[in-house]
Amino acid sequence: MAVIHDVMPAFLLLQPSSLADAQKLLEREGPDAWILAGGLDSFDWLKDRMRKPKAVIDLSGIAELKGVRSTADGIEIGAMTTLTDVANHPLIQQKYQVLARAAEAVASPQIRNQATIGGNVSQDARCWYYRAGWPCYRAGGNICYADTPDGRNREHAILHAERCVAVNPSDTAPALVALDAQFVLQTPKGERVIPADEYFVGPDIDITRLTILRPGDLLTSIRIPSTWAGAHFYFEKIRDRQVWDFPLLNVASAMTLSANRIERIRIAVNAVAARPLRLTSVEQAVMGRPRTAATGEMAGNLAVRGAVPLQFNGYKIPLMRNLVKRAIVGGQETT
Ligand SMILES: Cc1cc2nc3c(=O)[nH]c(=O)nc-3n(C[C@H](O)[C@H](O)[C@H](O)COP(=O)(O)OP(=O)(O)OC[C@H]3O[C@@H](n4cnc5c(N)ncnc54)[C@H](O)[C@@H]3O)c2cc1C
Ligand code: SF4
Repeated sequence: MAVIHDVMPAFLLLQPSSLADAQKLLEREGPDAWILAGGLDSFDWLKDRMRKPKAVIDLSGIAELKGVRSTADGIEIGAMTTLTDVANHPLIQQKYQVLARAAEAVASPQIRNQATIGGNVSQDARCWYYRAGWPCYRAGGNICYADTPDGRNREHAILHAERCVAVNPSDTAPALVALDAQFVLQTPKGERVIPADEYFVGPDIDITRLTILRPGDLLTSIRIPSTWAGAHFYFEKIRDRQVWDFPLLNVASAMTLSANRIERIRIAVNAVAARPLRLTSVEQAVMGRPRTAATGEMAGNLAVRGAVPLQFNGYKIPLMRNLVKRAIVGGQETT
């Protein structure tokens, strides 16, 4: 079980100044190496002594992993760009506002100044039991403590749970799925570019991780195509407190309209499953329809089909229904 100690266990701190050096170090140190970005998730694990890596590879000195660049077809955001810089970047604010709003909704200003976008999409599950070191499925055991009649599962999954009912807690992830972003990875076998949708994995694929990252893999940047630049965007996050809190549920959408009919749309929710969910059946059902309350209502009902509540998280079903509705019609029209 987790015990709070005053200091972290000793490890070898490695601070490469180039991507090439980081990759060499990752290869040299093997699966025991821990990648450190802003540290907001990493230091929890290390301070609680729940993870005891032999070596920590700190990416903060690698300039090529920082900043937002224009590309021939959109923008590219370095994985080590802070959430504050993502939220404040003029191009992101002008053209991809849904991402600026999602980044701005993370935690507190102090955390956003330090936390990176790469770390935000790569963070681990926040389930109390898992974080406290209980030997559950996700930790390699054979039980889920949250999915029991008395389990603390208010924050947990309502969709696609399989043994583990933990959720992906990232605020930026659904915005990146909605924007059809591509994630650029450096792996021991070379570069891989994958759709945001495929970066995240559920327990059906791997119960021990939330992303496809394997030891030795680095997320280097996130590319956003111009496809949705300047579209109608919606982002909303519901949390217990309006600061410093993880989402109970969030939703992000990007949409184009023609004479108030929905021409194209991408919509994603997070904190309802172990991965952000793109709602393709909702997208298909609303395309070509007028952007009205009735369409939003239909979309909300469709979105929650198949949802299964646990003992204490039944509230997530109406919450998801309403957030999806608002993501279709816009917040003002439904209040
Ligand atoms: C009090 C508190 C409140 C929070 N509230 C929210 C919230 O409201 N919404 C939200 O979304 N998050 C929240 N978080 C989580 C936090 O925002 C994210 O954990 C943060 O963005 C992680 O980024 P980081 O740069 O600190 O990454 P780190 O903590 O350093 O890394 C996170 C994980 O990703 C891996 N990693 C990081 N970068 C890379 C890379 N480039 N390639 C491969 N692997 C990598 C690390 O090895 C580690 O496993 C909160 C955290 C705290 C402590
Ligand atoms: S929800 Fe997942 S992480 Fe939490 S106790 Fe169950 S198996 Fe472990």
